[in-house]
Amino acid sequence: MNTEEARTRLLTERARIEELRHAANRLTADHQEAAERELSSAEQHPAELASETIGLEIDHSVLQHAELELAELEAAVKRVDGGVYGRCEACGEPISEARLEAIPTARFCIVDQAKQDKNGRRNGH
Ligand SMILES: [Zn+2]
Repeated sequence: MNTEEARTRLLTERARIEELRHAANRLTADHQEAAERELSSAEQHPAELASETIGLEIDHSVLQHAELELAELEAAVKRVDGGVYGRCEACGEPISEARLEAIPTARFCIVDQAKQDKNGRRNGH
């Protein structure tokens, strides 16, 4: 994958996630309105109020995920600009094409990613 291809892919993905975030934001606002309406009639519909609350939590996790993805994409675009895209941040070796195809925002080669994941688990995340 050359630099221009990588950049186009990352920007396309960013646009898609920004749309997703926008949709999730709107959905959250709708849910909040619905939940507020439910509050006035909560005594009659306790089960419905509970389901609205669960819906809100799902939306927030979608939003959080979208924010994380956007941050990763921003970082990847910066690496493209800096000419270090597709290189492992730990060992400096090129990340395989197949891996970048699957995960365009990959920061590490498979070996170092495994180490990162292991560290993360040890720290309780
Ligand atoms: Zn590496």
